[in-house]
Amino acid sequence: MSPEISLKSLSGRTALVTGSTSGIGLGIARALAQAGANVVLNGFGDEKEIETTRAMLEEEAMVQVAYDKANLAKPDEIAAMMARASTMFGQVDILVNNAGIQFVSPLEDFPPERWDAIIGLNLSAVFHTSRAVFAGMKARRFGRIINIASAHGLVASPFKSAYVAAKHGVVGLTKVMALEGAQFGVTANAICPGYVWTPLVEKQIDDQAKAHGIGREEVIRDVLLAQQPNKMFATVEEMGALAVFLSGPGAASITGAALPVDGGWTAH
Ligand code: NAD
Repeated sequence: MSPEISLKSLSGRTALVTGSTSGIGLGIARALAQAGANVVLNGFGDEKEIETTRAMLEEEAMVQVAYDKANLAKPDEIAAMMARASTMFGQVDILVNNAGIQFVSPLEDFPPERWDAIIGLNLSAVFHTSRAVFAGMKARRFGRIINIASAHGLVASPFKSAYVAAKHGVVGLTKVMALEGAQFGVTANAICPGYVWTPLVEKQIDDQAKAHGIGREEVIRDVLLAQQPNKMFATVEEMGALAVFLSGPGAASITGAALPVDGGWTAH
């Protein structure tokens, strides 16, 4: 190992980041790799593009980067992914539960299958991945679980029943994991972003426009950024920097927290 790599704060650690082929997950995976961690990517997308991203991260960060295409809506695929990661790297030290989907509709029209899909991916998958790594982290006396919740894990907005319910659930699950891991060097925290400009946000603009009966520009100004006092989208790089900090030694005593990164939204 070169002296340059050994100086990196997460050198020798392995991180698995769910939903890291895009948006916040990719930003976090990149930041963790640049901090020296080996990384397992996961998520959907064009296989060639994913391979290009994987190879690029490996080259720029000089760490090992793997990709696992598990569909996290399926608990058996989650179990298989977690087993493959442990076989490949020996263990998972840092688990970032990031994969998530959104659907926007008034409650009375909200399709039950969308409810089930959102609860399944945004909440239940967090349980399944964490359950798979928890015993190993406790035994090794080190673990970092970082759940990407949302400002919607702390407050609600109309038309997002399933998402708000799932994200509040993630914040609660994070607290339970923090208590159970506290004496074993395992921390669990939730990052609660406000609006971050990613494909997930871009896709929901049309749905929001329909639900509110207004145009795209008005959705951005009057619905999305209306919530954020600083009137700015957060960046995936900011999410990456916080995940690196929470993964490192300086955050050993931060556990069970739901950390807003929302330009002041939840200070209201
Ligand atoms: P995104 O749509 O850009 O990325 C979502 C990722 O999840 C992709 O990699 C996608 O392939 C993956 N994914 C989707 N379904 C999956 C499945 N069944 N199995 C495995 N992977 C799957 O979204 P994003 O905006 O980067 O959001 C990431 C997380 O951050 C989500 O949990 C979201 O709720 C949360 N979040 C986003 C914002 C925001 O403003 N973008 C704000 C708060 C919270």
